[in-house]
Amino acid sequence: MQFIETHCHLNDEAFNPDRDAVIEKSFNRGISKLVEIACSAKEWEPAGALCAKYPSQIYACFGIHPGYSEELCPENLAKLEQHLKKSVSKGLGEIGLDYYWDAGKKEQQTLLLEAMISLSNRLGLVSVFHARSGKDAKNDSAYADLSALLKNKWNYAPKGKKFRGILHCFSGVWEDAGAALDLGLALGVNGTFTYKKNDELREIVKKAGLENIVFETDCPYLPPQSARGLRNDPSYIPEIAAAAAGYLGVTVGKAADVTTGNAYEIFGVL
Ligand SMILES: [Zn+2]
Repeated sequence: MQFIETHCHLNDEAFNPDRDAVIEKSFNRGISKLVEIACSAKEWEPAGALCAKYPSQIYACFGIHPGYSEELCPENLAKLEQHLKKSVSKGLGEIGLDYYWDAGKKEQQTLLLEAMISLSNRLGLVSVFHARSGKDAKNDSAYADLSALLKNKWNYAPKGKKFRGILHCFSGVWEDAGAALDLGLALGVNGTFTYKKNDELREIVKKAGLENIVFETDCPYLPPQSARGLRNDPSYIPEIAAAAAGYLGVTVGKAADVTTGNAYEIFGVL
């Protein structure tokens, strides 16, 4: 049984004391490959270095997260393109819209996202999306705006493939999930699936089905219920998978096989 961690931030300073030990522990727990997500210009080089240290085991996605919309400039776009062309790069991300932490910068975020989408279109890149709605989620939906923009502007179309990317850390309503699946996005399922209050999310994941999800942690953030308040890391993937398998009524082995297959399809031969 093997798992793929599709979304981690191992270069976060939270891992400075024991990064290599955390990575070894994750391999020992059956996580065979990890995808590091580099969110801003200062994270691109370190992500490349981490991949170089663990060849064929750690890969990266490079992008500009909506929280860094001020980084949009021609120099950074040129630099980003260089990183995206490296062999360790498996896609563009994370990119998207965040109306929760950065509600005052919607216009800047939209400009950034459009620039990222045109990179995906031009270079033919799988993309990892972040969406977080405002505090009044119904009337301030980052999901609705993201899917409208993707519908209009995203034309990356990998031949013969079901998926064009991932909507990571899904936290929307069923309508948002349905729109994402229609756009060719898999839903990223992480520790939030195990939170006591998240019955709605569990039902959405069940309805989407194993064939449309991948596992991730988004570490060091969002540990599963058993570790709330602690630092998250990729070794929690089997626990998240067990919770999802239990809820969906399948074996953990089956959940591992199907979601690992999805991750391979999305990122190519890892
Ligand atoms: Zn993330």
